[in-house]
Amino acid sequence: MYYIDPHIHMVSRTTDDYETLAKMGCVALSEPAFWAGYDRGSVDGFRDYFEQLIGFEPKRAGWYGIQHFCWLCINAKEAENVALAREVIAMIPQFLDRPGVLGIGEIGLNKNTKNEATVFLEHIDLAIRTDEQILIHTPHLEDKYQGTRMILDMLCDDGRVNRERVLVDHVEEHTVRHVLDEGFWAGMTLYPVSKCTPGRAADIVELYGPERLLVNSAGDWGPSKPTAVPDFILEMRRRGHSESLIRRVVYDNPVAFFSQSRNFVFNPPDVTEAAGV
Ligand SMILES: [Zn+2]
Repeated sequence: MYYIDPHIHMVSRTTDDYETLAKMGCVALSEPAFWAGYDRGSVDGFRDYFEQLIGFEPKRAGWYGIQHFCWLCINAKEAENVALAREVIAMIPQFLDRPGVLGIGEIGLNKNTKNEATVFLEHIDLAIRTDEQILIHTPHLEDKYQGTRMILDMLCDDGRVNRERVLVDHVEEHTVRHVLDEGFWAGMTLYPVSKCTPGRAADIVELYGPERLLVNSAGDWGPSKPTAVPDFILEMRRRGHSESLIRRVVYDNPVAFFSQSRNFVFNPPDVTEAAGV
């Protein structure tokens, strides 16, 4: 089945991973800006990183027939430095009309601090002023519920936010309902050691239905599995779910969400043909 991974950090992965993803049926992916493995010392570090996301990664993906899209921001971890964050936010508009840039992300909270909240709100303001979509990171483990609640409150307090153009990622059983009930899109991240497993993601689809739900692998610096979305496809098939329901979550939903971005120029494959798993 052809699929799209809507949240995967390919800068931390090898070219062999692109090849494996292509063989598994991945036809497109989107890469939110995140932590580089070190805290960048200046705004120029972010400028170079954005050039890598917009310039080189689409080429590397293209060698295997995968379309690469991206999102720009300063991540929550580095947003603790508010002065640097403001320099990055001021620079981002220069990149927003470049090919494949889908919006502002992944912004959000990491440790739920005041500085992170300040920078989150300034990113939201940027996205609204520039008419961009938003992709949001929610904190890990014990900080997740409170952080997700804080994020939803900040979004809902701003009447300018179009909730259909916001994706809240890394949802789990205790946060997904809040995100969907408020009218946002929700992403489930499939991870070997924390976050969701393919089985838990399948449970969530069974409980809530496929509307506004996405699955992704995150594929980052830590223990993560770039082929986690095919694992979800297999788990759904094992449970006897229809191909159309599975395709809705792993293909139709990402296309529907991304299509709200003016830079989402997508060349769809022939979806009547089976591919990958
Ligand atoms: Zn991420």
